[in-house]
Amino acid sequence: MFQKILIANRGEIALRIHRACREMGIKTVAVHSTADSNAMHVRLADESVCIGPPPARDSYLNKAAILAAATITGADAIHPGYGFLSENADFAQMVEEHGIAFIGPKADHIRMMGDKITAKRAALEAGLPCVPGSKGSVDSEEQALELAAEMGYPVLIKATAGGGGKGMKSAESPAELREAYRLARQEAKAAFGNDEVYMEKYLQKPRHIEIQILADSHGNVVHLGERDCSLQRRHQKVLEEAPSPILKPEERARIGSIACTAIRKLGYRNAGTLEFLYENGEFYFIEMNTRLQVEHPVTEAITGLDIVREQIRVAQGAELGYGQEDIRFTGHAVECRINAEDPDTFAPCPGTITDFHTPGGLGVRVDSGLYSGYKVPPTYDSMIAKLIVHGANRTECLMRLRRALGEFVIGGVKTTIPLQQRLVENEDFISGDYDIHWLEKFVYGDKH
Ligand code: ADP
Repeated sequence: MFQKILIANRGEIALRIHRACREMGIKTVAVHSTADSNAMHVRLADESVCIGPPPARDSYLNKAAILAAATITGADAIHPGYGFLSENADFAQMVEEHGIAFIGPKADHIRMMGDKITAKRAALEAGLPCVPGSKGSVDSEEQALELAAEMGYPVLIKATAGGGGKGMKSAESPAELREAYRLARQEAKAAFGNDEVYMEKYLQKPRHIEIQILADSHGNVVHLGERDCSLQRRHQKVLEEAPSPILKPEERARIGSIACTAIRKLGYRNAGTLEFLYENGEFYFIEMNTRLQVEHPVTEAITGLDIVREQIRVAQGAELGYGQEDIRFTGHAVECRINAEDPDTFAPCPGTITDFHTPGGLGVRVDSGLYSGYKVPPTYDSMIAKLIVHGANRTECLMRLRRALGEFVIGGVKTTIPLQQRLVENEDFISGDYDIHWLEKFVYGDKH
């Protein structure tokens, strides 16, 4: 059994992981940059170690410093959270080689899923339906043009090393494709140091539906249903809900069972998410996230399971101890991501928090590292809080969400709360009628 876990992350997710550890009687070690000395996760942890200056590459991405902190404090395991080193196979391997448990999958699985071409190949072999596209990389403009002529336009060029929507460009014609191909490679090179790209059919009105799975090291696998994450701005999720307002129970059961079979075939362990696009009743796998996700609380709300606790149990070698038939879905949950940004221009807005009042009451959860007097540093991601609301059904959930957003006070910085408030009053959103392109139209015009 783990006695002490080092949390290799910051902000709300570091706090979230700390809470699960506390409830399990496990001591925690926080690591932090000099910009985060006063952060809530550092204050609450049993021990803390400063691992470097503010830039992430010198602190939260500094593998040697994190490993040294784990060794010095005698941690048995490292939880990487999301982002930073959570999908870094070399780090996972280093941690395990030092006799410390990595709370996540095996390094080989992280590696396989980190490269989107090998991920798609593995997914196809494991029986997952994929978006039609190139078999491997597309290495020249001519190859791209030939393939697109065969597949038919529109097409999408995507970076093999992709993440955060970078290195992704769509094209509706050969002329656009030449430009998209060049730009995608350039962007991929700049973002990932790897300009390899591949091609997919560009789906025009899909929804983003992802399946949460849990797997232990004894071959037991369950799925925890889906999350609908179609509300995106620049391929970044803004609001997520579970269950999806449009999925029928039999569709859920079908894709859930396909996902579990694939995970079993892959021999994958720990928590993971299979992301799909869904259009006209068909699912198309796009990628797998081999880590805890930002939006995991909506699944926790409808299943009553603590996903971080399950990750820790599985990493300790425990069996899940329940089967698919034991997973019950209750009610409806929505998560709003709240960023320290101007709600109109999306310019980051770091600064000192002067007031902080969180909403409460039945079915309301706030995951945030903020407190009054806290300084939001300019160095990191601008997400500062998540509001998660649960109700008996979607209507009740949305009424509660409007009430909770209205109570939320974050003073001193601009936040995206006003945008979320506008969104939850919108008729298309209320009726569940939206696809992955809808939010951009809502934000930038045409739907106001
Ligand atoms: P990343 O890893 O960069 O986030 P993903 O493959 O997960 O890239 O895709 C991110 C988002 O981009 C998806 O949620 C979807 O909105 C859009 N997208 C990806 N592939 C396609 C496609 N073939 N057709 C249309 N939209 C897509």
